[in-house]
Amino acid sequence: EGGGDMAARDGSGPEGLCGPERPGSGGLVLLGLAPGAPSCPHGPALLFVKTSQGKEAGRFYACSACRDRKDCNFFQWEDEKVSETRLAAREEYNRNHQPSFTHKQNVERYKNFVLLPLSKRRFCQECQQLLLPAEWEKHLDHQFLCDISTAQLKSPSQLLYPLENKKTNAQYLFADRSCQFLLDLIIDLGFRRVLSVGTPRLHEMIQSKASQGEDFRVRSLLLDIDFRYSQFYTEDEFCHYNMFNHYFFGGEASRETCRKFLYQDNGERVIMVTDPPFGGLVEALASSFKKLMAMWKETEKEGRNNQEMPMFWIFPYFFESRILEFFPSFSMMDYQVDYDNHALYKHGKTGRRQSPVRIFTNLTPSMIVLPVEEGYRFCAICQRYVSSGNQHCEICDSCTSKDGRRWKHCVLCKKCVKPSWFHCNNCNCCALQNHTCEKTDAGCFVCGKAGHKRSTCPSLSHT
Ligand code: SAH
Ligand code: ZN
Ligand code: ZN
Ligand code: ZN
Ligand code: ZN
Repeated sequence: EGGGDMAARDGSGPEGLCGPERPGSGGLVLLGLAPGAPSCPHGPALLFVKTSQGKEAGRFYACSACRDRKDCNFFQWEDEKVSETRLAAREEYNRNHQPSFTHKQNVERYKNFVLLPLSKRRFCQECQQLLLPAEWEKHLDHQFLCDISTAQLKSPSQLLYPLENKKTNAQYLFADRSCQFLLDLIIDLGFRRVLSVGTPRLHEMIQSKASQGEDFRVRSLLLDIDFRYSQFYTEDEFCHYNMFNHYFFGGEASRETCRKFLYQDNGERVIMVTDPPFGGLVEALASSFKKLMAMWKETEKEGRNNQEMPMFWIFPYFFESRILEFFPSFSMMDYQVDYDNHALYKHGKTGRRQSPVRIFTNLTPSMIVLPVEEGYRFCAICQRYVSSGNQHCEICDSCTSKDGRRWKHCVLCKKCVKPSWFHCNNCNCCALQNHTCEKTDAGCFVCGKAGHKRSTCPSLSHT
């Protein structure tokens, strides 16, 4: 059953309480990438703090990429002494858990594959791998597809199954409409290069148009942890990358590919587009994206004063404050991004739920033109396009709805709230009518004291 990730997020986020932030899962706080951190097969592990009853109960390293222990069970206490033998075993384990073919080998295999007549082009569905005739024997009792056409090779995101039930990858593919919208927007804004971070379908749409039309000048480089894509793209088109720890699996050469891509044309007309899994490690993502931005910044010798690499970060609206915490220059657009393989978040027809996923960008909001025929309008006061249901509130002096529905202003909260909310005098904030009143004295999640949030807790001040 897919969709767990998004659905769970949806439950925890949008009806959120007004008090201090609640922890993501079971009393864990992310500290981030620490110097000298040990590595799992997914690169350097991240440092977490475990808390219990407001007290720090231990620090440990865990895999940056996999939130499911089944996918990677790396674990090490921060102060744990690891013996030489265990270190050696770990290195061996990490080596053995790399893909069986290198990217280079996969590129070579692809070259041979396209030379084959249709009748000999097979794709093993179990191994998610293009097969050369010499390998057929090993996959005879696997399900496979035959007659793989050039068109199929050009849309690997259709050929590969989405890794959606795995918490780790949480692949939610753009609906064609949303993907086309993004690409048109990128073109209209005058961009020529797209750094596609975890957006294989956007990458694929760009690649496929570039190979068809000579007047199509947009280029894309895909950065993704899903190594299956290395079967379809060269080393200049795809980098095996982990966006939670900014780790290039292909080492310096791969990092250089990314750098070169950003450097082209003096760093002009490039935009980064990313659609990460919504697992909540916003600080880890932000730290990686800042590193990618810094890489771009190096393109100018004097350094680009105050300029940031243009970016679209696609994420649910209830992460708005978290994203703005790390990127104060960003704003959230009202456009609802739709997905193919997520029934809940397909574009709302009658009674259908609407997608909670939005575009966050550091571009001037008025430049992001949203389609009027899909129900967006321009608010002259806010100088941005908004959902048609999003009414301009005179008191807040902005179009305050986050979910497209008309929100209402609460004079006691001094802000607009969801239409389904009512002011609760107990909680001293607005909430659903049937909510259970919360203690209002809850302080910082880590130490329990009032006056600060977990992210600025003085007891975690070591990094
Ligand atoms: N909507 C996008 C796909 C988003 S799904 C599209 O249609 O193009 C999230 C993407 O992020 C997937 O492609 C997944 O493989 C990738 N991903 C998941 N974890 C990642 C990680 N740790 N580092 C890099 N990419 C990751
Ligand atoms: Zn791992
Ligand atoms: Zn407005
Ligand atoms: Zn208001
Ligand atoms: Zn209120």
